[in-house]
Amino acid sequence: MAYSDILIRVICSIFLLFFLAGAVTSFLEKEIRAGIILLATSFFISILLLLFICILPEYQVLKLIFLSVCLLAMIVVFFPVSGTKRYNFETPTKRFHEADAVLSRRILQAGTSDYNSYYEKHPEHKNPDNQARNQPGLLSSKSKYFDSGTFSAAEANFIITDHLYALATLQINKKQTRVEGDKTKKFIEKWMLQTGAHSIGFTALKDYHLYSYKGRGQESGQSIEKDMPHAIAIAVEMDHDMMKPAPAGTTVMESSEQYLQSGILASKLTTYIKELGYAAKAHIDGHYEVICPLVAADAGLGIIGRMGLLMTPGIGPRVRIAVVTTDIPLEYSDANHDLTMLDFCNRCKKCARVCPANAIPLTSMKELEGAYRWKINSERCYHFWTISGTDCGRCVISCPYAHPNNWFHQFIRWGIKNNLVFRVMAVKLDDIFYGKKPKIKTLPNWVKLK
Ligand code: SF4
Ligand code: SF4
Repeated sequence: MAYSDILIRVICSIFLLFFLAGAVTSFLEKEIRAGIILLATSFFISILLLLFICILPEYQVLKLIFLSVCLLAMIVVFFPVSGTKRYNFETPTKRFHEADAVLSRRILQAGTSDYNSYYEKHPEHKNPDNQARNQPGLLSSKSKYFDSGTFSAAEANFIITDHLYALATLQINKKQTRVEGDKTKKFIEKWMLQTGAHSIGFTALKDYHLYSYKGRGQESGQSIEKDMPHAIAIAVEMDHDMMKPAPAGTTVMESSEQYLQSGILASKLTTYIKELGYAAKAHIDGHYEVICPLVAADAGLGIIGRMGLLMTPGIGPRVRIAVVTTDIPLEYSDANHDLTMLDFCNRCKKCARVCPANAIPLTSMKELEGAYRWKINSERCYHFWTISGTDCGRCVISCPYAHPNNWFHQFIRWGIKNNLVFRVMAVKLDDIFYGKKPKIKTLPNWVKLK
């Protein structure tokens, strides 16, 4: 048998195995469309292999063409070409009032001094905010996706998360333990990952990580000063299956679950640091002095993508983040940032296409508050939440980076990072495999109470 024949059989068998395994993985993920396409491709490769073995053994030109195409495909997959020269890692350096975040403003009560003073300064927000206040609201029984099981579970998670904040009043142990920065960092990293964190990162706390003023509760209007040198960002994973029916009930059940889990990790870490005799603050749901995605991006957990959320390289935006600021000695180096994710985001736009509120821009990044970035229309997004009753998450689960972190998607993400041509093809292929606007899955039976 000629070497070319052996090579063709080996190549076809590798492709066949890859596509068959990809089909099985997709069926297991319940991605039927992707599974059928991968199965059809395996079938096509089998036919090709049979043709080469049985019918066309003498056609040298055809074999040469086939081997050249395979060589080209391998160059595309394996040759590193980042194609990211035009991108920089940038984050806005302007400080924001917490009340400028629409989620903080929702709790302003008409007639109170906080309400009046905020809208005197920002009359442009008054009408859209009041329109949202006239909708059923988050977790309301009158909202579009109301479902007693998932909404009550979310309510329970939010209540417990709120109680965690009581731990903030715990005193610092007066007897301080001497610790070494590198060892403390390793300990914290290993402990958090072992007890539920998906990823963890360390950074120097910067002024622009902090809100300028508090915008919620009794401390509203108080200025926020930088009082710690370090920030630790902890990301936890939101379950893929629970997010698939987004914007229906499981999405708010899962996001509240992960607010709770990230809150537990941050509170545990804060209490531990105080026990060692150092200062620490947990920034958890409803109690933030920092803008978590900015801290997490600087800590190397990912980049801020088109939808304005942290995009991690492993599971994209399918995370919730909590932050701990502290003065315990810590040693860490500057983080590396994967700019290929920005390039992918620039080409993809899937989140903008699926957003029911048209809140995500379809345009390229623009210079805003000192950084090139995308800015979503949070008022439109929040308005939709007040109708749906959930925190939606349609953009999160539709993102090509949000697929489960198994061998198949890890290989695709590796290719996206490694080679520009692969990246361009991956944008198109995600549409072909999962749809330009992926279908909304139905709620799993086990969450239905009736
Ligand atoms: S869906 Fe596409 S454009 Fe949107 S954040 Fe994800 S990768 Fe970026
Ligand atoms: S959460 Fe929903 S409404 Fe908000 S930006 Fe994402 S898709 Fe749009």
